[in-house]
Amino acid sequence: MSSATPTTTLPPREARGRRYFGQFSLRRRVLFSQLPLAISTVLVVIAVLVIDPGVAMESPFLAIGFGGIMFLTLLAGAVPWHRLPAVLYWVIPLLDFVAIAPLWTAARYVLDGMVLLTAFPVFWLAWSGLYPMLALSLGFLGTAAVSWWPYVSETTPFSDALMESSVTRPVMVPFMMLSLGAAASILTRSMDKQRMELRASLETSKSQNRMLQTVVETSDVGILVVDRDGHDILMNQAQRRMHFIGMPPGAEDAAEHELLVFEADGTTPISAPDRPVVRALQEEDFRGRIIALGTDGSQQHLSVSASPMYDEDNRFDGTVVVFQNVTDLMDAIQAREQFVAEVSHEFRTPLTSIIGYLDLALEEDLDPALRQFLNTSMRNAERLLSLVTSLLDSAANTSKVSVQDVDLARLTRYSLESATVRAQHSDLTLESDLPDRFEAVADPVKMGQVVDNLLSNAIKYTPDGGSVTVSLRRLPGVDGGGDWAELVIKDTGFGMTDAERGKLFTNFYRTEHVRKAAIPGTGLGLAITQGFVRAHGGEILVASEKGVGSTFTVRIPVDGPATEGSREQ
Ligand code: ADP
Repeated sequence: MSSATPTTTLPPREARGRRYFGQFSLRRRVLFSQLPLAISTVLVVIAVLVIDPGVAMESPFLAIGFGGIMFLTLLAGAVPWHRLPAVLYWVIPLLDFVAIAPLWTAARYVLDGMVLLTAFPVFWLAWSGLYPMLALSLGFLGTAAVSWWPYVSETTPFSDALMESSVTRPVMVPFMMLSLGAAASILTRSMDKQRMELRASLETSKSQNRMLQTVVETSDVGILVVDRDGHDILMNQAQRRMHFIGMPPGAEDAAEHELLVFEADGTTPISAPDRPVVRALQEEDFRGRIIALGTDGSQQHLSVSASPMYDEDNRFDGTVVVFQNVTDLMDAIQAREQFVAEVSHEFRTPLTSIIGYLDLALEEDLDPALRQFLNTSMRNAERLLSLVTSLLDSAANTSKVSVQDVDLARLTRYSLESATVRAQHSDLTLESDLPDRFEAVADPVKMGQVVDNLLSNAIKYTPDGGSVTVSLRRLPGVDGGGDWAELVIKDTGFGMTDAERGKLFTNFYRTEHVRKAAIPGTGLGLAITQGFVRAHGGEILVASEKGVGSTFTVRIPVDGPATEGSREQ
């Protein structure tokens, strides 16, 4: 990837040395329209002089016609037409008819077809685009006048005209010119229309381009567009600032592969093929990948998303990579987690002491009313302790597990036994389908918590009289991989909608129904559970239907996570 370049657009045509006729000044356009006739006239006069020099001596018409056209050509180039009403430049083609008449009268015996010189003013009038009907009529009348001129002028007796076999010519030529003029006029009008449409769509696209550029440049989000060969096509202001943060200290500029890019932890460098822009160039479409850019105090966390672009033939044509600075958000999350961890820790010590003393007090011989008070205090203190423990777990690093050989069946059975009293209290049927033994490599404390959390949720969120079923089985590995342990906890409880299911593993999320029913909870249990399962290299899936029930499925590799945090002997 090369360094930044702003949006590029093709240079306008004139910048490349060529101009459209319409882009010239009106004076030049009038001159250029007259020039073909002037050049043809020069050629005609030369031809006449070469073929029959006597013509110039015998009659002044050749000189008059030639001089007239040359004078009109000078006039065309000299008059500032743009300061006059547009239609005034018609004077030139109209006077051209007047000059052509003596020219053709003088030279018509030497050069055949001289009358066709009228085509020049006819076309000019027609493609001027002004008053089409008037232009055509004037062209017709001009041609007719020129065609008939020799026959009505004194130089050619009418008897001669009648003797000429070409008497049809003065009749035909004006009509021929009229048709050609009409064709030219129609063509000009349709071209004008097309040009206007083209100009309008060009204006629209230019204004859209300006709008897009303003949006892109105003955006706080870094935007980078790279073509299929890895060259930057566009890099906005925000992205240029981010690029600067990622540059190695002391460097003036850096290519993408030289930038200091790290994983979200801010210290692990991201390998070349795994860098976001490189992956985006492999046609990858991804959202919200967190990376760290730069080092030390200036390091920033970015959320990166990329979408490939395709051309009309559906071939990869480059990619758009968007970088959002999430440093403040990451700092806020970290601060919140630290705060929660510290506060929960501070709560735990006095709470444990309260419970201990309540326990001691309850062992005494007490007045029944006092015992009831103490029992209530004990229950609430225990609830508070479990809440604080959840908060601590959520703030703790759930990604580290300490694995050992564990009998998952025994671990699950133990959780079931602890849950039996609660299930009976709600008149729930608690069923299980467990093997006698299930050896696996796992963290017994964390897996115990996973089963406890899911089981306690199933009981808590199932109305009285329902049922909860727990099963554990082995799933054979695929593609030569190791076996999996699958734990399924199914209930006939409240269930949830698909939208609720999507947010289930978010910290502090609780479904509306549960919040309204004031069922106690923190909304942290499932987030923690998911963290523990993932730390084992596993996954947790949920199927649920509102009003019918939910099924939570946990799968972990039997042989433990691929990268073990630590293994206790
Ligand atoms: P808590 O149970 O403390 O509220 P969790 O993270 O364990 O927190 O659960 C989050 C939310 O998910 C619960 O508040 C509840 O709305 C919903 N939920 C969890 N398990 C179930 C279940 N088995 N059936 C229905 N809803 C459930």
